Amino acid sequence: MIDLKSLSLQEMTDLLKSIGQPAFRGKQVFTWLHKGARSFDEMSNLPKVLRDRLAAECILHVPQVARKQESKLDGTIKYLWELADGNCIESVLMRYHHGNTVCISSQVGCRMGCTFCASTIAGKVRDLTPAEMLDQVLFTQLDSGLEISNIVLMGIGEPMDNLDNVLKFLELVNHPDGMNIGMRHISLSTCGVIPGIKRLSELGLQLTLSVSLHAPDDETRTRIMPVNRAYHVDDLFAACHEYFRKTGRRISFEYSMIDGVNDNDWQADLMAKRLKGMPGHINLIPLNDVVESPFKPSKRISAFQKRLESHGLTATVRRTLGSDIDASCGQLRRKAMEEKGETCR
Ligand code: SAH
Repeated sequence: MIDLKSLSLQEMTDLLKSIGQPAFRGKQVFTWLHKGARSFDEMSNLPKVLRDRLAAECILHVPQVARKQESKLDGTIKYLWELADGNCIESVLMRYHHGNTVCISSQVGCRMGCTFCASTIAGKVRDLTPAEMLDQVLFTQLDSGLEISNIVLMGIGEPMDNLDNVLKFLELVNHPDGMNIGMRHISLSTCGVIPGIKRLSELGLQLTLSVSLHAPDDETRTRIMPVNRAYHVDDLFAACHEYFRKTGRRISFEYSMIDGVNDNDWQADLMAKRLKGMPGHINLIPLNDVVESPFKPSKRISAFQKRLESHGLTATVRRTLGSDIDASCGQLRRKAMEEKGETCR
């Protein structure tokens, strides 16, 4: 079976031509799929024989809303989607002044093992397809009735661990005949997988790269993020500097503030040293308390921010959204796993 929605417009056109259809059919099918068609029968401008053939030979899945929670505080909506194979993933719609932003997952689970993160506790189940990433944006928009203008790849999973599919997804969601979301409205967040950063530097996409740094020294970073054993801080910063040189794009560094672990002044000073020569932006994130994690939120966020600023760095504190609906970092999927066990993996 062909996963039609994961194909680029060119691939779709070639496929339809190969079964004797005129080239314009590719664009017709692409447009239907990217508008959220739920069946081939809906595609009313296609001949019935073609619709039947596509239905027999291609997959057309749409994710089901397994759970939906809306924050009373700020309108954040959290979706738990059930995929065709019964796996569940999360997306979160956040309503910022600059536009509605959806945070999407790139994998079912995660194998990176960051010690403070709920998404990785049960490991990785599988990668998401380009279509499954696109569907999160598309069906969040359709279900909520709110137009999505921004995407952050900051949900469950490590995008660099599924980079081929992520790049294909970016091509799809960016396409003028599809959702047409500009690269400058898309952020991709990585825990620091250097080969992925290098590959992105070569491509020179206009998206925003976020690096989940969380500590500027190897000792602390290895303690909280096992990925640091493979990719050390020195090498990570070298890759970031190279990324900036090649793309001219400012990197955003994520820094979740953990009490007594990464919130010391000397670590702010070290950040400044490491960032020399690159206009980075530091996003300080209040740690979300994950029951399974030994770490506690820092009480020094504004002191740490001031220390960074004293070095001329720009640092902002991320606003906490959806705190009444478990809207952070794999917590809804985890809850559903505990409660539903078998049915929602
Ligand atoms: N794997 C990617 C994207 C997913 S995580 C990455 O690591 O960047 C999205 C962001 O949330 C990362 O910066 C991650 O480190 C952070 N995060 C995870 N758990 C958190 C928690 N309990 N509190 C605050 N931030 C957390």
